[in-house]
Amino acid sequence: MAQPYDDNNIFAKILRGEIPCNKVYEDDHVLAFHDINPQTPTHVLVIPKGRYVSSDDFFNEADEAEIAAFFRAVGKISRDLGVVDRGYRILANAGADAHQEVPHFHLHIFAGTDLGRMIK
Ligand code: 5GP
Repeated sequence: MAQPYDDNNIFAKILRGEIPCNKVYEDDHVLAFHDINPQTPTHVLVIPKGRYVSSDDFFNEADEAEIAAFFRAVGKISRDLGVVDRGYRILANAGADAHQEVPHFHLHIFAGTDLGRMIK
């Protein structure tokens, strides 16, 4: 059974404005901000505003408009960050084996250095 959404997770608090973030993009469906503990020179997190625990929930439960808006935003953010020409990596951790830390679906955008072949 799917894990219930925890309204007290850290990204829910960021979405409600209860804790600050270094915002790079926002629209009706999406918020993006710099990771507090960047793993690469550019490390941005992109989250939907809807309540989805993981990529599995988002891919299966979000409506088409939310999904389209999310991936359009990832494309726009990547371009606006100036990382497209040199290259970048997008990644989602989902569940225990992937060590997903925050139970609100998010994509990582890693860029700004040679990312090698490591996945994170
Ligand atoms: P996960 O392991 O769930 O895929 O990644 C969660 C990410 O959220 C980590 O890279 C971590 O550094 C980041 N993170 C955790 N708490 C905060 C926070 O309060 N603010 C920001 N901006 N990032 C956070």
